[in-house]
Amino acid sequence: MIRGSDATGYPEDMTVEVNAELIAETARTRDGASVFDRLERLLPLVSKPIQYVGGEVNAVHTDWEAADVRWAIMYPDAYEVGAPNQGVQILYEVINERPDALAERTYAVWPDLEALMREHGVPQFTVDGHRPVGDFDVLGLSFSTELGYTNMLTAIDLAGIPLHAVDRTIDHPIVLAGGHAAFNPETISDFIDAAVLGDGEEAVLLITDIIKEWKLTGRPDGRIGLLQQLAKTGVVYIPQFYDVEYLPDGRIMRVTPNHAEVPWRVRKFTLMDLDAWPYPKAPLVPLAETVHERMSVEIFRGCTRGCRFCQAGMITRPVRERSITGIAEMVQNGLEKTGYEEVGLLSLSSADHSEIADVARNLADRYEDSQTSLSLPSTRVDAFNVDLANELSRNGRRSGLTFAPEGGSERMRKVINKQVTEEDLIRTVTTAYAAGWRQVKLYFMCGLPTETDDDVLQIATLAREVIKAGRAVTGRRDIKCTVSIGGFVPKPHTPFQWAAQLDHESTDSRLHKLRDAIRQDREYGKAIGLRYHDGKPGIVEGLLSRGDRRVGRVIEEVWRQGARFDGWSEHFDYERWMAAAQVGLAGTDVDVDWYTIRERQQNEVLPWDHLDSGLDSEWLWEDWQDALEEVAVDDCRWTPCFDCGVCDQMSTQIEIGPTGVVDLPMPVVSRPSFVATGGGA
Ligand code: SF4
Repeated sequence: MIRGSDATGYPEDMTVEVNAELIAETARTRDGASVFDRLERLLPLVSKPIQYVGGEVNAVHTDWEAADVRWAIMYPDAYEVGAPNQGVQILYEVINERPDALAERTYAVWPDLEALMREHGVPQFTVDGHRPVGDFDVLGLSFSTELGYTNMLTAIDLAGIPLHAVDRTIDHPIVLAGGHAAFNPETISDFIDAAVLGDGEEAVLLITDIIKEWKLTGRPDGRIGLLQQLAKTGVVYIPQFYDVEYLPDGRIMRVTPNHAEVPWRVRKFTLMDLDAWPYPKAPLVPLAETVHERMSVEIFRGCTRGCRFCQAGMITRPVRERSITGIAEMVQNGLEKTGYEEVGLLSLSSADHSEIADVARNLADRYEDSQTSLSLPSTRVDAFNVDLANELSRNGRRSGLTFAPEGGSERMRKVINKQVTEEDLIRTVTTAYAAGWRQVKLYFMCGLPTETDDDVLQIATLAREVIKAGRAVTGRRDIKCTVSIGGFVPKPHTPFQWAAQLDHESTDSRLHKLRDAIRQDREYGKAIGLRYHDGKPGIVEGLLSRGDRRVGRVIEEVWRQGARFDGWSEHFDYERWMAAAQVGLAGTDVDVDWYTIRERQQNEVLPWDHLDSGLDSEWLWEDWQDALEEVAVDDCRWTPCFDCGVCDQMSTQIEIGPTGVVDLPMPVVSRPSFVATGGGA
């Protein structure tokens, strides 16, 4: 994803020298002393200084000396993006609830502050205690996207931690990657000590236990001893304990453990009972402006709809719902602790919760006379209905209703297994327009496997039908529809992991044809907004998501040439990435095209094959073949199991209602005017 920003840019020809002096200094201290007095002097010189001061409502301050194990948790993007991140907030609380551990947060600093920190020797710091990140036992990074990798390198370097894992000593933190992008951490394997796949709540507790034991027993066998203890669990991946061999044509021949007691495959964590983990219990309320200013409650985890492009859906299987009472308690508690006036019910597809109608009605009843609004930031076309529309629009305010048909043509939607028909879409938008919405947003992808120009041009036809339906049901001319299109990037652990990515020139050409078709539509074109980005960032994302260890040299090279904040359009520089790829991949038989626009065969060893998401490789391959034959597969929530492998391998199962609870034991809140809104993806 590429973002826009008004943040300060970095010097144009910025290159990076590893700060050896800072490394030495940080390695000496490790007492967690605040660097705020040194930082404070720099803040008047940078943009948005408030993002570096912390002080959020519900921030936790734990005594440094009282903790046996200390975590610095990083979201490798700007504070305004990272602060609302649910994953970070959950882990922050889970760790801080332990009397023997502490967690503080750190975010990517903008290049203006980075330059000053380098000049004045201020290390990467946490926003809680403004302590040097290099003083902690663990630097845990949560990656939502691969485009945060260069920000990780900046943070490691500013923390005084050697860039390469093999150069670190017992004095340096363990650099640990998690989040969706960590399901293929091979491209960053030079820079991380460890990676964890899947849900983080139990993982951070297990790792804390192991580090505590290692420290209290005199750090047996040093840093390697600790990494061995972590690897032995079978759920913490230590890249340096695996060797990768390549075939003469560049493909991987095999990946083998090089240490005793290290498993051949590393499993993912799956948390089964969401009600037992009602985090965050006290969500953070930042002082600075952030991208989401609302209280969020995760109403279920996982998705079994089986959209073939969707890595999040595949790697978070199976579906595990939070109960209707668990949701209500989190909403009530979170609102009391934060004062927020909007509640987002989060999941990969919120309206798919088996009891969403009761959840929405109960919450709408409870907050009817208050200022509190309710939103579903992610709603499937076929799960939105009149009742839900009525609950979401009770008392009036309606904004941000987004649906994601993803593919423009019926054929394309069969290929990607997005079982949404044109009739579904028209029925849904008609419901929304009739309930008072004047604008809906439709999200599509370009560059999907087997896609033709015609598939993409049908997006214009669909948008036209949407406007037509809206005008018919409302009798108004001010109906709007925004079409937003992203370039498709094939991801690991999905049926499309073998697919060829579309080159950026073809992506751009298709998008321009679509733009022209909408412009030429005299009757409806002006009511259709079109938002798209060019195809170049997708190629870099593709290189990073399906790359192997050889891509690490590209990441380091581009970072040394000044790459930062690659998820932000004004900072992303495609030419710099391609130049770095020339340097980083020199001497190998592979290049960017090889990693991106090349289709893989079934017998190819994929870089992430030794990382077990629970999905059976045979099942993924069959699903890929089904995609090519345009065969759809149902949602296993409601049908017999399709044997994707997850439930068997992980000893898990689908966890859904009905709970038998219809009315919540919650008193009605009486404040002025309840407002409900809808939203979605
Ligand atoms: S194992 Fe079966 S029930 Fe479980 S997620 Fe896979 S297809 Fe669904």
